[in-house]
Amino acid sequence: MGQALLDQAEHVLRSLYGYTAFRPGQQKIIESILNKEDALVVMPTGGGKSLCYQIPAAVLEGVTLVISPLIALMKDQVDAVNEIGIPATYINSSLTKAEERKRLKDVADGNISLLYVAPERLYEPSFQAALAKQPLALIAIDEAHCMSQWGHDFRPSYLTMADWIDSLPEKVQVVALTATATPDVARDICRRLHIDENNQHLTGFKRTNLTLRVLKGQKKTAFLQQYVEANQGVPGIIYASTRKEAEAIYRAIDGKTNAVLYHGGLPEKERTESQEAFVYDRADVMVATNAFGMGVNKANVRYVLHANMPGTLEAYYQEAGRAGRDGEPSECMLLYQAQDVQTQRFFIEQSDASEEKRKHDFEKLQWMSRYAHTNQCLEQFILSYFGEDAGEPCGKCSNCKREGEQQDVTRDAQKVLSCVVRVKERFGKTVIAQVLTGSKNKKIEQLGLDKLSTYGLMKDRSAKEVQAFIDFLLAEQYIGLTPASYPTIQLLPKGAAVLKGEGQVYQYKETVERTVSDEDPIFAALRAERKALADEQGIPPYLIFSDKTLREMAAVAPQS
Ligand code: ADP
Ligand code: MG
Ligand code: ZN
Repeated sequence: MGQALLDQAEHVLRSLYGYTAFRPGQQKIIESILNKEDALVVMPTGGGKSLCYQIPAAVLEGVTLVISPLIALMKDQVDAVNEIGIPATYINSSLTKAEERKRLKDVADGNISLLYVAPERLYEPSFQAALAKQPLALIAIDEAHCMSQWGHDFRPSYLTMADWIDSLPEKVQVVALTATATPDVARDICRRLHIDENNQHLTGFKRTNLTLRVLKGQKKTAFLQQYVEANQGVPGIIYASTRKEAEAIYRAIDGKTNAVLYHGGLPEKERTESQEAFVYDRADVMVATNAFGMGVNKANVRYVLHANMPGTLEAYYQEAGRAGRDGEPSECMLLYQAQDVQTQRFFIEQSDASEEKRKHDFEKLQWMSRYAHTNQCLEQFILSYFGEDAGEPCGKCSNCKREGEQQDVTRDAQKVLSCVVRVKERFGKTVIAQVLTGSKNKKIEQLGLDKLSTYGLMKDRSAKEVQAFIDFLLAEQYIGLTPASYPTIQLLPKGAAVLKGEGQVYQYKETVERTVSDEDPIFAALRAERKALADEQGIPPYLIFSDKTLREMAAVAPQS
């Protein structure tokens, strides 16, 4: 049966949409739908999911029902397909009763191929009556991750929708689509919709026009100010993890560029104004929390800069992926501060989710944090996280581009690893760093940890440096964290091998994080300079620079 329909599908692509070819994945997905297979499509935002059900809708007999939570987008989508000649309509709360009746009559009369609805509508008798008049060709479930409580945007109405589909008198073919399903979320969606797990199509995560960067040890405000100033007239998004932080960033950069602010705490009118100013190129920079972005269609975003690390790689890549939808070169930068891990941990702890879900969230946070610390190509890291073939290193991310030497840190790694073993995997990062640096903390004594052979093995380093080094070992999976509020560190096989002397550990010099003590020669030199300057002007030294600022300056000064 297949070929005739397939030919029609190609014809629709060329003559109605005016596209020359299917994108990677689309053809296979459409083929399998036309072969009457259910499907789960995981394809990133902008990948072209809509076509995967719109083209079948155009060639199949009967109505294709599209269930979507994004009421605001239905009109645009429907207008667009009507324009190219596929009869479509939508039913949602924006319509008058009379208009709704008219549309339902169109459906009942068989004038509609593509019908968009919000999940809440499905149980309404008038809706069901209209739908029952025509054969249902296909049910397309957009944003299908909303069905899984493991996803980041769970909606109860999506669960009732699965029940509604089960209650239909005949089995209807389904295609579920999402941009953000990790393997466990995907499995959950398949289970709820009875989709065979072999019918998952993971595709299109690779975005060759994006350059990924992780930046560590930056002074955030100064960096952002410089960055936006150097990129005036270039559209970009800066994401912060809290409203307060978004406001602070907005205030810090607004003088340097033309910025707008968007977060859930602002009145709707202000949010709409911000969004429109940004979308229509009246403002260059959008400073926002994750409340901004879903369904916003702006193709020429040249950079997405995360001022804080999000809690999951799904969230990160979805937000970062809003850069460069037009296919032009664009940048995705993550500014990493160790503090961000604490913030995300706090969010998880504060949530009223089940124990199991929290455990799950801690695991995801660990993957996000690994991304920030890894030596691997960032693109490969993301692709393999999403279960897609990672291919060759991208050659342009901040890890691929990293110059400078790698340092053999095998000895230090062995110190940390043996400490993990000595404390019998019962403690977390803080305690291990304390033991290794020979901390005089009471708790360490009380626990008898000062008697361990690894006590004070790294006393030439600060606790913060050792913690950063532990983060690196976590990222490279020599050790792992138990998923809990107070995670403890465990030895992983790769770490066990290093302990046995099988395998070397390398780290880039520049990523070795530095803290500055009072005895630090650079700090001391800066202090002396400041004093001389202050004496000259007859003012106290702190009026020139605070000690804190001097420490920050010393921390980024080139090392001899
Ligand atoms: P998603 O729902 O996955 O975020 P969309 O379906 O909205 O993505 O498609 C994103 C953009 O890509 C749209 O502008 C769409 O017209 C375009 N597009 C989709 N498929 C193709 C194709 N085969 N060739 C060219 N452009 C395409
Ligand atoms: Mg879409
Ligand atoms: Zn790379």
